[in-house]
Amino acid sequence: MCDVVARVLGQGDALPESGRRRFLQALGATAAAGGLVAAGAQHAAARSVQHRPGADGHRTRLVLLGTAGGPAWIDGARCGVSSAVVHRGRVHLVDLGAGAQQRLVQSGLGGRSGLGSSLSAVRAVFLTHLHSDHVTDWPALYATGPMNIVGRALPPIEVFGPGDRGILPRVFPPGRPAPPVFNPEDPTPGISAMTGYLRKAFANDFNDRARDSNFTGPDRLFSVHDIDLTGIWDIDPQGKPPRLRAPIPVWEDDDVRVTATLVDHHPTAPAFAYRFDTPDGSVVFSGDTGVSDNLIDLAQDADYLVHEVIDPVFVDRLVSTLPAEIGDPLREHLLAAHTTIEQVGRDVAEPAGARNLVLNHLVPGNNATRRWKAAQRGYSGRLIVGEDLLQLPVGGS
Ligand SMILES: [Zn+2]
Ligand SMILES: [Zn+2]
Repeated sequence: MCDVVARVLGQGDALPESGRRRFLQALGATAAAGGLVAAGAQHAAARSVQHRPGADGHRTRLVLLGTAGGPAWIDGARCGVSSAVVHRGRVHLVDLGAGAQQRLVQSGLGGRSGLGSSLSAVRAVFLTHLHSDHVTDWPALYATGPMNIVGRALPPIEVFGPGDRGILPRVFPPGRPAPPVFNPEDPTPGISAMTGYLRKAFANDFNDRARDSNFTGPDRLFSVHDIDLTGIWDIDPQGKPPRLRAPIPVWEDDDVRVTATLVDHHPTAPAFAYRFDTPDGSVVFSGDTGVSDNLIDLAQDADYLVHEVIDPVFVDRLVSTLPAEIGDPLREHLLAAHTTIEQVGRDVAEPAGARNLVLNHLVPGNNATRRWKAAQRGYSGRLIVGEDLLQLPVGGS
């Protein structure tokens, strides 16, 4: 759902006061409508799936750390979106929503020294896009990471994500006056520039610890890369990506190969999907996107497709009390930039031939599981509704 709702909420001048109040009431009503029963059930479910040892013996595993989508905290039972592909004990993270580091420790992937080892097995991080619900824990990892590497014997953690977009997105809805620009001298920083700002923001802490103890800072622990789109896409304000003929090579290490494609999360751009190929099988992460042909190409014959999903009933509730001239385009936009329950199995996983479809980035996070299971319609593979800390084996070894 990301920034559109936040933008509407933040634009007092774009919405008459009565409409704004009704919109806020709709949000509250929606959160309540998902119900106490669903929230309670999910608390219990989250407890029951913590650190499932059944997948521990597998050489390659998919681990869901957090499964909630969007920056709004619906009920807190699910953490923000974050996942891991584990191969030969090395952890590769995809997105870092709120609570990712906490879930990393709870998952058992963070070492068990009891001395601060949550990042000791992390080899690389891949960020799909820079919306806050996907990167909120990057500052936490960056600032505290050097204190959480007890026993680490790996090279630096490679971090990949979008580069500088270079141009602001169009204003929505069309015709609305352009709002003030944040940080106008650098309004669209990529992951490298964002990390540069973090280095400055935490300088006091880093200098304190460097002088007071043997703290070496984050520079030697993290190696941060913008994914280069030169010759692939010159991003425009609309942010609708071109059809790619081939995936973008991102990273390779021993027998883990990571490729990416551009997905359609317009106007947000670039937004990446990632594919991990290992000797035991493949795992694809959609990131945030509407139905995307590029993604269907990337996910061909994947063992696991981990895909975002939004409930259109939630969207309807969200916009139902808004004036039509605001609600209609908002609904259209939310459904174009995300993938609905009805679409994700039938229109994405089925044509991709993915053997398992794992739903994550659930919007809203407090829906009953049975509602998400409607994604099975039109999909002949196995549907798995994501839960925080769920571990799934990849391949048989
Ligand atoms: Zn997003
Ligand atoms: Zn998101």
